[in-house]
Formats: sequence, structure tokens, C-alpha cells
Amino acid sequence: MKSSRRPSPLQRLRRMHDQLVAAYGPQSWWPAETSFEVVLGAYLTQNTAWKAVEKSLANLRAVGALTIAGLRSVPLEELRVLVRPSGFSTRKAPALKAFVAMLDEEFSGSLDVLAATPTLALRHRLLALPGVGPETADAILLYALGHAVPMADEYLRRIAERHQLVEPAPGRNRRGYESLVRLTQQAFAADPVEGHTQLFNEFHALNVAVGKAHCGRTARCIGCPLADDLQWTKSDPI
Ligand code: SF4
Repeated sequence: MKSSRRPSPLQRLRRMHDQLVAAYGPQSWWPAETSFEVVLGAYLTQNTAWKAVEKSLANLRAVGALTIAGLRSVPLEELRVLVRPSGFSTRKAPALKAFVAMLDEEFSGSLDVLAATPTLALRHRLLALPGVGPETADAILLYALGHAVPMADEYLRRIAERHQLVEPAPGRNRRGYESLVRLTQQAFAADPVEGHTQLFNEFHALNVAVGKAHCGRTARCIGCPLADDLQWTKSDPI
């Protein structure tokens, strides 16, 4: 039976975080050892599965190119071959080179200097790089550079649309992405600001967890930790 007071979408999204924590526990997530590996992973994972990324990262590790210095010195042609397992290598290899060139020319070749840039300016700069869309920029900001920005990836989009927290965004467009970012920021607005980086980090990882277990291309709602929230939707999820 529905409770009398209908929670807002923001309250529901915040509560979904708590339900996921209760179901899956802390995730402490991003499968990489260094901040620069996170950057590499954020580029390489575009339009491909993480298993393929791991093959590219193993190739890069074998030639010492998992560091800024290593990637700087590897020739572009060789880099294309090394990242081929994760697909789109003719686009991803130059994009990685462009990231390192930006780092060298504008941030003294240092991720720490890059990370010290204010969040909005930094996001704007990353989005101006070739091969960097909002999801890649936010993954770098959050997981490599420690900035408090939410990730609005495909998993969160599916959940939010199926729970009717946002309007469906045809073709994963930029407006849809940004509205999901805003919704998440607002849902956590009452939480202490200093905890936002950790909350956004965990929330993204938890969305991936529930996405893999239940909310993939087909929704498997029975037994899903978020099924209780469906009481507030007007129709069943597709
Ligand atoms: S599987 Fe069903 S209950 Fe779970 S998140 Fe997806 S739509 Fe919601």
C-alpha cells in the first residue's frame, strides 16, 4: 500500500542510494591503481566492456606506458596498436596523446596541478579535448582528480528513467545527461559538502552493481533492492 505522503524525485533518489548501500555495502571503486590509470581507463572504456579495457591496459603496462612519462614517449602508431583491444583505437590513441599534451602545455605535466583547478573550469577544459564527452570528463574529475561531480552513466539513466525520475532522453543526448547530473547533485545537496566526492563515487559504483545484477537492458525487478521505489511510478518499468 502506498504511504500517504508522496516523496519527491530528489528524496527518492537519495533513498535509493541508502537502499543500495544496505544491499551491497561499500564499493570503494574504480578498478585502477593510480590516478593516471583512471584517466586511461576513462578514455578506453568508451563504447566498450571493461574486459577489453583490461587487455589494452595490460599492453600499456608491458611497455611501461601506464604513466604520464611512458605515454608521452610511446609513438602514436604504437599506441594505436596497444589500445586496439578496446576498440576505436584511431580515435582513442590521439585523444590520449591530446590529454598528455594539454597536461604538459598547461599544467606542468602534473595531475596534481590539473586537480587543483576549480571544478567548473576544469570540466570545461576537459570537455574541450578531443574524444571527451561529459561521462568521460566526469569519470576523470571524480575518480582521478577527486572532484565532487556525479556520474550520470547508462546505468543511472536506465534506473532514473524506469523509475520515472526523469523524462526519457532519446539517444542519450547531452541535455539528458546534464539533467541527470543536476538531479543527483540536488538529491545529495543536504549532505555535508565535504562528503560529496565519496558519496558520488559510491553512488556510481552502486548503480553499476544494481545495473549488472538487475537493471540491464531488461529490468529484472523481482529481488532488486530498488523494487520498493516502483510504488511511486505510474507504470511498470520496461
Ligand atoms: S530492476 Fe526494476 S526495480 Fe531494479 S532498478 Fe531496475 S527498474 Fe528498478
